[in-house]
Amino acid sequence: MRLTLPSPVTRHRFSGIDFYLKRDDLIDRDFSGNKARKFLWLLEQEMPGIKRVVSYGSAQSNAMYSLSLLAKMRGWKFHYYVDHIPKYLREHPHGNYLAALQNGMILHEGEALQKTDDANTLFIEEGGRDMRSEYGIAGLARELHEVFGKVPMQIFLPSGTGTTALFLQKHLPWRVLTTPCVGDARYLKQQFFELESDERLHPTILETARKYHFGKLYRDFVKIWIELKKETKVTFDLLYDPKGWLAILENRDIFEGSLCYIHQGGLLGNESMIRRYERKFHEVFKYADK
Ligand SMILES: *Cc1c(COP(=O)(O)O)cnc(C)c1O
Repeated sequence: MRLTLPSPVTRHRFSGIDFYLKRDDLIDRDFSGNKARKFLWLLEQEMPGIKRVVSYGSAQSNAMYSLSLLAKMRGWKFHYYVDHIPKYLREHPHGNYLAALQNGMILHEGEALQKTDDANTLFIEEGGRDMRSEYGIAGLARELHEVFGKVPMQIFLPSGTGTTALFLQKHLPWRVLTTPCVGDARYLKQQFFELESDERLHPTILETARKYHFGKLYRDFVKIWIELKKETKVTFDLLYDPKGWLAILENRDIFEGSLCYIHQGGLLGNESMIRRYERKFHEVFKYADK
């Protein structure tokens, strides 16, 4: 696998806001986005003795897919624990789920998870929330620094576990802003504290007036996603980026200087989201360019 690093930076305008876009979606066809950054250590480090990777989370997760690919490349077994597989997904396998199965993922549904991290087993927390992720995210920070140098910047990216935003802030001189997509601002703050006790090194959290629940479908989300594609010609992710852009637009007076948005990939995961959106908001989606 030859990764495109440093990833490109492109320029766009959306809803009157000029911004740079860090294209981590273009790192590699199969291994891209923030999971490529977070799991870079797994790709690069020699790990003699490791025979298997164990992780857990949702059956549609980008992290699950990325781990399945790494395990396949390195000749490790990949055991993945899910609470349950949605009926539609089980009957019509697609997206991250199908690709991970094709990579040989051994799925454990509804079984008790054992968090063993021993000489033969690498245990990875859900979504790659892990100190070891710092290595690849520091690389992303270095790339941003090389492009923007001394120009005052603001960096924005939407958060799940907050791992990417936190390590970026730790390694960048500029303000990193984010919005929680999983849970609320309090939950995200707790996640930051798990990884960094010095609050001065935490990213700035922006909220939207409306509360959104992770993985649920919202008309606001699909509308802004379609607008983004129309205006920027870039396909964004459907799970995190709509909330990210809503947070930017609702707080637009904060973004006075130059803004760089981090595209964190996730496009294989869009497949499930698009199917779900098509079924729920058929009329919004009918004429959209997907
Ligand atoms: C995993 C993921 C995120 C969230 O990253 P965290 O480091 O957990 O905050 C955001 N966007 C995409 C596309 C992702 O795959």
